[in-house]
Amino acid sequence: MEPPRIAACLCGAVQLHLPEARREVHACHCGMCRRWGGGPLLAVDCGQAVRIEGEAQVQTWQSSAWAERGFCGRCGTHLFYRLLASGALIVPAGLLGEAGELALTRELFIDHKPSWYGFANRTERLTEAEVLATFGL
Ligand SMILES: [Zn+2]
Ligand SMILES: [Zn+2]
Repeated sequence: MEPPRIAACLCGAVQLHLPEARREVHACHCGMCRRWGGGPLLAVDCGQAVRIEGEAQVQTWQSSAWAERGFCGRCGTHLFYRLLASGALIVPAGLLGEAGELALTRELFIDHKPSWYGFANRTERLTEAEVLATFGL
């Protein structure tokens, strides 16, 4: 089965066309992601070949030296986490629909995860130090 290729916000004003969407879902437990979305960010690396329809509705906020976060200015749906250096988009898995082929494979900033929740999935778990080393940040 092909990976999901179109993601839309709640109100439909913004559509992301994602020809390079991966199947692997990564969870980020960092404090910024949890504050942004109310819980860990579950997202899919969609690479750089992204086309955004309705871009005029997209608002962005630069949340760190290396990334910005985008959301729909009309309905508030979180659309992406964009790496500034490469332009790659990390898109919340919930936007990709009921794609059965997605798999949670990795958890980031595991040392920032609060103790009141935890995923039962068998994943590769990286601490903040390991994340920074792995991604060269
Ligand atoms: Zn919207
Ligand atoms: Zn995060």
